[in-house]
Amino acid sequence: MRMIFIGPPGAGKGTQAARLVARHGIAHISTGDMLRAAVRAGTDLGREAQRYMSAGELVPDEVIIGMVRERIQEPDCARGFLLDGFPRTLPQAEALDAALSEAGIALDHVLVLEVPDELIVQRITGRRMDPETGEIYHLEFKPPPPEIADRLVHRKDDTEEACRARLEAYHRQTAPIIPFYEARGLVRRVDGVGSLDEVAARIEAALGA
Ligand code: AMP
Repeated sequence: MRMIFIGPPGAGKGTQAARLVARHGIAHISTGDMLRAAVRAGTDLGREAQRYMSAGELVPDEVIIGMVRERIQEPDCARGFLLDGFPRTLPQAEALDAALSEAGIALDHVLVLEVPDELIVQRITGRRMDPETGEIYHLEFKPPPPEIADRLVHRKDDTEEACRARLEAYHRQTAPIIPFYEARGLVRRVDGVGSLDEVAARIEAALGA
């Protein structure tokens, strides 16, 4: 199964993506995670990306496209993959199309997780990540176990200001790629409001349809 997962920042994509890849045995390709790893490693790519990321802006297309093009050719992608956070612009969607047809493969689903903006700000500002496991918690909705509370990190781009910029980037640059896939009958819209289990069940139902 090859799929793209689209949704505003803080819609619960990361959490649902982790469940999906475990259930279906496919590779999880998160461009946000790849960029954060590059920032931590202090590579040239990381240094360039960080400027955009901390402002909540998108990293330039050519940087991301090259990174994903290489990643989808790795052996763990042979059984399928879930692209999380990519494509985020029309040029990225077109570049992905070209890369996939070059490889002779096609997408099965474009999953769109829908959450109203008002809920997003509330969700994002309470979000915390465990750097050791990559697990994502929410101070209110998914409280972390007390024994790991000290090591949790608050992402630099999870502040209210950066969150607004990311939402704006989503509506202006990412949402317009949905019609691109709708024209091919690949889009499955899922209501992202509800408990993690409720949303996971809706996702499975949408993929089975
Ligand atoms: P995410 O973890 O998916 O929310 O990504 C965090 C940040 O990484 C975004 O706000 C962007 O600055 C950058 N980023 C991740 N994926 C992409 C992409 N496909 N295109 C451009 N920038 C990206």
